[in-house]
Amino acid sequence: MKNRIDMRIGVLAVQGAFIEHEKILEKLGVDCVEIRQKEQLENIDGIILPGGESTVQGKLLRALGMLEPLTEMIKNGLPVLATCAGLILLSEQLENDTTSHIATLPVVVRRNAYGRQLGSFNTRHDMKDIKDFPMVFIRAPYIVAASDDTDVLATVDDHIVAVRHNNQIGLSFHPELTDDTRIHEQFIRLASS
Ligand code: GLN
Repeated sequence: MKNRIDMRIGVLAVQGAFIEHEKILEKLGVDCVEIRQKEQLENIDGIILPGGESTVQGKLLRALGMLEPLTEMIKNGLPVLATCAGLILLSEQLENDTTSHIATLPVVVRRNAYGRQLGSFNTRHDMKDIKDFPMVFIRAPYIVAASDDTDVLATVDDHIVAVRHNNQIGLSFHPELTDDTRIHEQFIRLASS
């Protein structure tokens, strides 16, 4: 049996593609907890914000009283991996929307940036030291501007699709929908450091 890694990663599970992230964590031998209520935010070493529908997720975070505690935890250094709708929740500013949600990642994001109909595609691209990563985009956002102290990890067709700012990693695409676990492994290393 594979060794378990001694840490607990929360996966926000109010809506969207959270099960796929859990399966990858399971494969990597990491315990995870589905976060559906604010009490479950205690005792986690990191959190994954999955893809789905950011407007719905944002409303639920507010209705469940989670927006404020989660925002504070991320500001205080909780490692976070945000994919697609999760990136939208995390970004400081939405270019084509007046709302923002957690707003801790100093980037400007354009929602449904590739158009609604033809907005889903797959490609392979380097993400810094992670070479040739399979990237799945589904009605994806991309980043139109990032602060100087944000590290751009990947750019596809001149659009920023992956960034890191200290404890926060934001991706336009869905690594959990592939069987390539390298991004999750990198996140686990961040959460264990
Ligand atoms: N278009 C969705 C949104 O705006 C994000 C899509 C996704 O997470 N796959 O929330």
